[in-house]
Amino acid sequence: MKYRTILLFGAPGAGKGTQGKILGNIPNYFHCACGDVFRNLKADSQIGRIFLEYANRGELVPDEPTVELWSQFIDNSKKAGRFNPDTDTLILDGIPRSVHQAEMLKDTLDVRAIFYLRCPNMDKLVERLQRRALRENRLDDANLDIIRHRLKTYERETKPVLNFYGKGIVHKIDSTQTPAKVLYDILRHVCKV
Ligand code: ADP
Repeated sequence: MKYRTILLFGAPGAGKGTQGKILGNIPNYFHCACGDVFRNLKADSQIGRIFLEYANRGELVPDEPTVELWSQFIDNSKKAGRFNPDTDTLILDGIPRSVHQAEMLKDTLDVRAIFYLRCPNMDKLVERLQRRALRENRLDDANLDIIRHRLKTYERETKPVLNFYGKGIVHKIDSTQTPAKVLYDILRHVCKV
């Protein structure tokens, strides 16, 4: 059985996490942010060390350990009764982040809709990430060169994921609006998924 899934898609700083957290509070929606799964690892575990090595350079963690860790997280969430695939829709944020990850997950995810949070203004993204660096103490957000590298990695490796799923299920949302307006635009479609 595949998981009924909605993807939150967009560049670092576009607001996927903000929206995901809100949507995940609605009954029957289960939010999973892949970056949070990584950040909750122990820094001295093998995969925790791999994460820090890549994230602090602004690069993606290799696909195999990423998908394996994510699968374990979902299995544990099911066992703990937090995620019930029979009744819940998965709200994924930050995964799949490459076409290879999308291929690896094609028998697991039934992707019904993609909310593509678009921010045409690069400077705005950089500004948001720098603010978040202070608020959330995130090393990968603190350095301008690393931020730029992450935005390039997004363009090169993550954006092609949109074509993998096809334009038919993609909803473009203007992420430069207020979070409430972005939420409103998402909710109008979420009810129909
Ligand atoms: P952002 O979307 O702001 O870049 P995330 O919290 O989603 O931040 O991710 C932080 C870092 O974690 C990424 O830069 C990357 O190194 C790693 N990461 C998160 N999700 C994935 C993924 N699906 N595949 C590979 N690396 C990932």
